[in-house]
Amino acid sequence: MDDKARFVMCICTGECPGFASLDVWKLVNRVRNELSVEYAIVHPQLCVDDGDRFWRDYAKPDVTYVVGACDPKMQRKMFKDAFSDIGGDFDKQVLSLDLRNMSTDEAFKKVADVVTSLQNR
Ligand code: SF4
Repeated sequence: MDDKARFVMCICTGECPGFASLDVWKLVNRVRNELSVEYAIVHPQLCVDDGDRFWRDYAKPDVTYVVGACDPKMQRKMFKDAFSDIGGDFDKQVLSLDLRNMSTDEAFKKVADVVTSLQNR
């Protein structure tokens, strides 16, 4: 696996009440500046057709992705086929985080804990 994870934030179109207390730009800037990630990006809606196309175009089989979005079980259901299609494995490559109903600080801490645990493994 490539050393540093990529942080991918899905903001649920920007209209979902579950992310109302989260400042997505503050979060991704803190992640990219303060944590050991390769970079951080935002996608508006990963679970629809262009989200599938994005994963198929973007994901690589030897890279770890930390994904901030909704329920991890939902993420698995929605993204695993795209990872299979690129010769990857969702279960080995993706760390799914539910960042709904959190403040920016709470979400950052959750991401930081996971990124730190990756460095230590
Ligand atoms: S993947 Fe989850 S967070 Fe992203 S748009 Fe779909 S339901 Fe919302």
